Amino acid sequence: MGANRPSAALFGGTFDPFHNGHLRMAIEVREALSLPRVVLLPAHYPPHKPRQPVSEARHRLAMASAAVARLPGITVSDREIRQEGLSYSLTTVRDFHRAEPGVDWIFVMGADSFGEISTWHRYEELLAACDIVLLPRHGTPRKPAPPLGLRIEKEEPHCYSWKGESYRLPGGRRLLCPALPILDISSRSIREKVRNGKSIRGLVPPEVEEYIAEHGLYLGAGEEGRP
Ligand code: ATP
Repeated sequence: MGANRPSAALFGGTFDPFHNGHLRMAIEVREALSLPRVVLLPAHYPPHKPRQPVSEARHRLAMASAAVARLPGITVSDREIRQEGLSYSLTTVRDFHRAEPGVDWIFVMGADSFGEISTWHRYEELLAACDIVLLPRHGTPRKPAPPLGLRIEKEEPHCYSWKGESYRLPGGRRLLCPALPILDISSRSIREKVRNGKSIRGLVPPEVEEYIAEHGLYLGAGEEGRP
């Protein structure tokens, strides 16, 4: 995090649907790092991308928005969804920096996503553009697994007021791994439960549960063939 500038976090995802893992992580990160703001960023996914979300962008946006409507310090941005084209995290981060240059934006992602970061568009530039916060994920080791060739160096933890670990990235930015609880919830498991007529109470915010029922989401064919 920048020394003097106020920080805010961008938390991107498919959010198909937005679940209590996303919700708790947004709250935990905000509190652990004392951030004034966490901005949720539902991704658009243009039709030519292989891994398509199950539900339309408008539904995913509506569910995330309803879930955090009354939560202080957590908002939703429709920037990527509005763009309709290919949206890269790097471009998004740069746009947020441009729109609010006084804010030191940091980027939040699950440890599983970080493991795949070398497949992201110009990922080295993204890692040099902002600090990254890693969320612990069930089934993924807590220690960050950087892509081959990317050197990360552990820093002394005593310089931080939060509990966890911090690493220096090659461009001087930081990889922050706050000590957060592991919540074994995934969107895929929720879609599966809905499809199989099982309850999702307690796994998603009540607003999301209602929205899914009202719009009949996730009742279609299974996803066995999906990556
Ligand atoms: P799916 O099951 O469809 O792959 P997902 O549950 O991983 O979806 P995404 O919308 O893809 O949800 O996640 C957005 C970001 O939030 C990703 O970086 C992911 O790693 C992280 N994330 C999702 N669920 C959790 C969780 N329970 N704990 C920590 N991070 C999570």
